[in-house]
Amino acid sequence: MQKYKLYINGEWVESGETFTRVNPANPKEVTGEFQQGNEEDIDKAVEAAENAFERWSEVPPPKRGQVLLKVAQLLREDKEDLARLETIEMGKVIIEARGDVQEAIDIAEYMAGEGRRLFGFTTTSELRDKFCMTIRRPIGVVGLITPWNFPIAIPAWKIIPALICGNTTVFKPSSDTPLCAIRLVEILEKAGVPKGVVNLVTGPGSAAGMHLVRHKKVRAISFTGHRDTGELILKEAGLKRVGLELGGKNGIIIMDDADLELALDGVIWGGFGTTGQRCTAASRVIVHEKIKEKFEKLLVERINKLKLGSGLDPSVDIGPLVNKAAQEKSQKYVQIGLDEGAKLSCGGKIPKMEGFFFEPTLFTNCSIDMKIAQDEIFGPVVSLISVKDFEEAIKVMNSIKYGLSSSIYTNNIRNAFKAIEKIEAGITYINASTIGAEIHLPFGGIKDSGNGTREGGQTGIEEFSEIKTVYIDYSGKLQRAQIDVE
Ligand code: NDP
Repeated sequence: MQKYKLYINGEWVESGETFTRVNPANPKEVTGEFQQGNEEDIDKAVEAAENAFERWSEVPPPKRGQVLLKVAQLLREDKEDLARLETIEMGKVIIEARGDVQEAIDIAEYMAGEGRRLFGFTTTSELRDKFCMTIRRPIGVVGLITPWNFPIAIPAWKIIPALICGNTTVFKPSSDTPLCAIRLVEILEKAGVPKGVVNLVTGPGSAAGMHLVRHKKVRAISFTGHRDTGELILKEAGLKRVGLELGGKNGIIIMDDADLELALDGVIWGGFGTTGQRCTAASRVIVHEKIKEKFEKLLVERINKLKLGSGLDPSVDIGPLVNKAAQEKSQKYVQIGLDEGAKLSCGGKIPKMEGFFFEPTLFTNCSIDMKIAQDEIFGPVVSLISVKDFEEAIKVMNSIKYGLSSSIYTNNIRNAFKAIEKIEAGITYINASTIGAEIHLPFGGIKDSGNGTREGGQTGIEEFSEIKTVYIDYSGKLQRAQIDVE
């Protein structure tokens, strides 16, 4: 079995304790032995990042962009290998794994160009002979903590904008996907990211991750993961800047005037893609009562055709869940749903297969207060709620604590625009599923899905840079704002 290391100050080093990880489609296959990084390793990584900061932040941003363009090129060359590795490490089907790597390529290309922008603005002054502008400055050492469900894309969404802005980084990936993180860092190293600029510490979130969060020399934390972990991080981070991208309980509204085939495609893709393990997964379907029966019947037919298996097999629709705990969680929620009185329309069991599989599951006759309609299950379990009209659909949509993604299928333009206005979510799709973020648009949620930050595109630049306001007075005399105005 191959043993992997931490990456600190440009060196691959050991920590001491190690842990192993298995292929969720075939738990007998161990994917590697990884370092269980500890607080001391985090201290070393932060020190390396701190020492590298001055030099990296002084590299002209277009030159930093050239390094990122090289990252994009290397990712492209390795796309198929990285995608296969991702499927083996966390289970998603290969076509989606390729999409995950493509997202990292896209962000690297976008941010490479950003090296020639990083715009501030100029404006007028209320005084004569005075010039006003803003510029962007790096923040310093930033700590990046990521989940396992997009093990290349989410780290790239953080590391790459952080680098173009001139920050140095300590990256703590999920313990479920350490190998994808290592491969990504190897590519950054090969592309010419100088030593100390990116440091990687694998290891438990509760120890290594929390130490990074509390570290006095870390100026910002960018976290994607579970709502409760995010809340804890916010409490522990002190005065540093914290960006949180958390969970969701995303809904699709299907009105009686919708194109049902299109809506079915959207529910299958949003509800069961990535085995339901996306923060933007469509885990609630809110259907107009006039079409409920027909839609339910068609949906069950479609679900029953979905093929489970190893994500490496291109004919497979649904891969395994990431680990045994996730499988048990889906099982637990099926029991909760039954106890709550929802109707199990299909699925609901652990199939007799090697690996952490779970049958794609549909509950119908759900009501908004049921736990299966409120909690993020993060598995292939979808709850269907029927409503009498558009107003009730919006009420149901907003009846949860989360506010990440949302969707409506309708051919009524008024309802489409009203939904854009009324749905409480960071993202709303019209006649498309809840998933499918593009890297140049803001990504993030409201309510318990985050703390107001957004990633992607220009908002990624905002997350990883400080704005400095600059006044240049060339009058040669003391001029007092608000006082010496004529
Ligand atoms: P977790 O919150 O369990 O873990 C996320 C990361 O945080 C991991 O690297 C984990 O390390 C680390 N961590 C855990 N505990 C702590 C702690 N006390 N201090 C610091 N770091 C810690 O989430 P999952 O990995 O299970 O990811 C699934 C969740 O992520 C879902 O809720 C999903 O909705 C959300 N998500 C949100 C997205 C968004 O953009 N809004 C996108 C994708 C996922 P370790 O693995 O070692 O425990």
